[in-house]
Amino acid sequence: MGKLIKFLKPYQVQVYFVLILVLLQSLSELYLPTLMSDIVDKGVVTGDTGYIWKVGGFMLLVAAGGMVCSIAASFLSAKAASGFGKLLRSKLFGHVENFSLHEFDQLGTASLITRTTNDITQIQQVLIMMLRMMAMAPMMCIGGIIMAYSKDAKLTLVLAVSLPVLVLAIVIIARKGLPLFKSMQVKLDKVNRVLRENLTGIRVIRSFNRVGYEKTRFDAANWDLTDTAIKVNKLMAAMMPIMMIVLNLTTVAIVWFGGIRISNGHMEVGDMMAFIQYAMQIMFSFIMLSMMFVMIPRAQVSATRINEVFATTADIVDPDKPKANNGNRSQVVFENVTFSYPGAEMPAISNISFKMNPGETTAIIGGTGSGKSTLINLIPRFYDVGSGQVLVDGIDVREMTQADLRQKIGFVPQQAVLFTGTIAENIRYGKEDATDEEIRHAAEIAQASGFIAGMPDGFDTKIAQGGTNVSGGQKQRLSIARSLVRKPEIYIFDDSFSALDFKTDAKLRAALKDETADATVVIVAQRVSTIIDADQIIVLDNGEIAGIGSHPELLNACSVYREIVMSQLSEDEIA
Ligand code: ADP
Ligand code: MG
Repeated sequence: MGKLIKFLKPYQVQVYFVLILVLLQSLSELYLPTLMSDIVDKGVVTGDTGYIWKVGGFMLLVAAGGMVCSIAASFLSAKAASGFGKLLRSKLFGHVENFSLHEFDQLGTASLITRTTNDITQIQQVLIMMLRMMAMAPMMCIGGIIMAYSKDAKLTLVLAVSLPVLVLAIVIIARKGLPLFKSMQVKLDKVNRVLRENLTGIRVIRSFNRVGYEKTRFDAANWDLTDTAIKVNKLMAAMMPIMMIVLNLTTVAIVWFGGIRISNGHMEVGDMMAFIQYAMQIMFSFIMLSMMFVMIPRAQVSATRINEVFATTADIVDPDKPKANNGNRSQVVFENVTFSYPGAEMPAISNISFKMNPGETTAIIGGTGSGKSTLINLIPRFYDVGSGQVLVDGIDVREMTQADLRQKIGFVPQQAVLFTGTIAENIRYGKEDATDEEIRHAAEIAQASGFIAGMPDGFDTKIAQGGTNVSGGQKQRLSIARSLVRKPEIYIFDDSFSALDFKTDAKLRAALKDETADATVVIVAQRVSTIIDADQIIVLDNGEIAGIGSHPELLNACSVYREIVMSQLSEDEIA
C-alpha cells in the first residue's frame, strides 16, 4: 500500500485540509462535554437561567462548527480518494498499454481487468476511511485522556483497568479475523474465475450439456466463500457486544466511584457527566483503530495485486538511440531466426531465413500449429526473437522505435477484431485523417462495399460490442479495409481470407494486386488456391522451413507442399 500512496500527491492540499478539518471536528467534540459540565455545575445547580442560555447557545455553535467540519472533511476526502483512484487507474492502464503480448500471456487479460477496476475501488474505499480515522482516532484518544484526567485524576484509574481489557479483546478478535480476511479475498478471486469462465464459455457449456456440472462447480466456490464470510461476520458480530459490555461496565464503575467522590465533596455532578462522555470517546477511538486494522489488510491484498502489475515491465522497449532509415525501403529479412514461447519445451519456429522484397507477395503455408502466426508476429515485434535477427528496411526491428516500425505495417490478425463504433470509424482506425473517399475506396478493394451498402445506415451502421452484428467473413473484410486505408509499406494478412468464399477470395486478391503493387505483402493461408500465384511460397512444418520457392518449383521439390496441394486440388487443377 505504501508504494501506491504517491498517487495521492496531486491531492495533497485536499488531504491536508481533511486532516485539519478532522482535527477541528475532534476539538469541538472534546470541548462539548466540558461545556455541558459547566452548564450543570454553574447553571443548573445555582439556578442561573441566563448562564444556561449563554453557554447553551455557545454549545450549539460549537456543535454546528464540528458538524460543518465533518461534512467538509467527508466531501474533500471523497474527492481526494476518487481522484487518487482515477490517477491510479490511468497510470495502471498506461503501464499495461506498454506491455508486449508476453506480459498479457503472463498476467492474464481477465485478471488485469479485475485489478484495474475492483482492486482499485477497494483501496479507494479504505482510503476514505483512513483519511477520516487516521487523524480522528489518535486525536480523540489522547485528547480524551487529557480531558478526563483534568476533570478528575483519581477517576482515570477506572480507565486504567477497562482500557487494557478492551485492547485485549480487540487483539484477540483481530488475530482470529486477519487470516480469514486474507483467505476471503482469495476465495472471492476463485468465484470470479469460475463465473468468468462460465460467462465466456456459455455456448460450449450449453452444447455439451455441462450446465449441471458447472453449477456444482460454482456452488462449491460460492459456499467456500460464504463459509468464510459467515465466520468473519460471526467474529465481527461478537466484537460489538463485547465492546458494549466493557463500555457499559466502565460507565457503571465511573458512576459508582464518581458517586462516592461527589458525596465526599471531591467532585461535582457535571464533571462526572463529562467524565463519562470522555471515557466513551476514548473507547470509541480504540474501536475506530481496530476497524482500521481490519480494513488495511483487505486493502493490502488489493495493493499487492496492483503492485504486481506495476512491477511487471515490458520485455519489449524502444532502443535509446533508434537507427534512421537507410533507404532499403520495406524489405523484410529473417536471418536464422529462432523463437520459443516462455515455458515451452520446443521452439515455436527455428532457423528461419528468408527475404521479402517490395512489390513481391510472399505466402506462408503449413498445417495448424506449424508456427505461421508466430513467424509473422515477429515482424511488428509483438515478440522478440530468441536468436537471429528480423530486419525491416535493413535495420534490426529491435533498433527502431515500435511506433516507426508499426507505422510501416498494415497488420490483419487471424482473429478479426472490431471496436464499438460505426463501420467508418472502424476503418478509419487504420488512418486517423482518412477522407470519406479513402474509406470508401478501401472498403471497395476489401470487397466490403457490397454488404456495407446493404446495411441500414451504410458506413454509419453501428458495430455491436464484439462485432456480433457482422458475420466472420464481413469482419475479416472490414479488418482488411482498416489496414488498406493506411497504405502501409508492408501488408501482413494472417489467414485473413479463411472465412471468405472462393469467389470473394479471388476477387479480393485481384483487387489487392493493384493496390499493393509496390508494397511487400505477406499472406498466411490454408488454401492453396489463395497463394498459388505468390512470388514466393514458404512452407512451414513444425516451425521449420520445409521449402521455399514458387508453386511449380515446390511441387517438384517439396514433399510437404505436394501433400498439402494433393489434399486440396484435383489432378487437373495441379496440371
Ligand atoms: P499457426 O499459426 O501456424 O497455426 P502458431 O504460430 O499460432 O501456429 O503456433 C505455433 C505453436 O506455438 C503452437 O504449437 C502453439 O501451441 C504455440 N503457441 C502459439 N501461441 C502461443 C502463446 N501465446 N504461448 C505459448 N505457446 C503458443
Ligand atoms: Mg495462426
